Amino acid sequence: MTEIKLAPINFSNPDLIDKIIPELKKFLSLPINVAQLKLDSSFAYSIERGQYYSTKILQHLLPFSESSDGKFIALVEVDLYIPVFTYVFGEAQLNGKVSLVSLCRLHEEFYSGNSNEKLLIERTIKEILHELGHNFGLIHCKDWDCVMHSSLGIEEVDIKGIDYCRSCKSLIALPK
Ligand SMILES: [Zn+2]
Ligand SMILES: [Zn+2]
Repeated sequence: MTEIKLAPINFSNPDLIDKIIPELKKFLSLPINVAQLKLDSSFAYSIERGQYYSTKILQHLLPFSESSDGKFIALVEVDLYIPVFTYVFGEAQLNGKVSLVSLCRLHEEFYSGNSNEKLLIERTIKEILHELGHNFGLIHCKDWDCVMHSSLGIEEVDIKGIDYCRSCKSLIALPK
């Protein structure tokens, strides 16, 4: 059975992972395991942008996924970008095994200065399920109730649904 391996990288708040996992399990009936990872991401840092190049980190993580049949999701706290965008919430290999999600811009503090852990967890679940959907071969969905809707800004993350729509669900045939 496909296993989901969640890998927080240089994470400052391990308690958050413990809170994310039971929420994630409501939407995924796959085994979820945690692999703590230490990684010096400086190779992906852009001095001009003050951000980390998402694709470079993703490529660096590929070897970690080779030992299992499952999906490998890395969670980082640094701000990610790809050259055509100001920032990205995450990136995934389409039909692949590895994805990357940044919590940096999922924190409500980033926008309003007020912390909101419940909202942070909800946004993180959405972004994990979204990138995972790409790993399972899903492309962006037009249904706003679907977690595979694209989100360029945080408002769109908040507006879209937290689960896969019926059509996306049928395409990935997740056991739930
Ligand atoms: Zn996407
Ligand atoms: Zn959908």
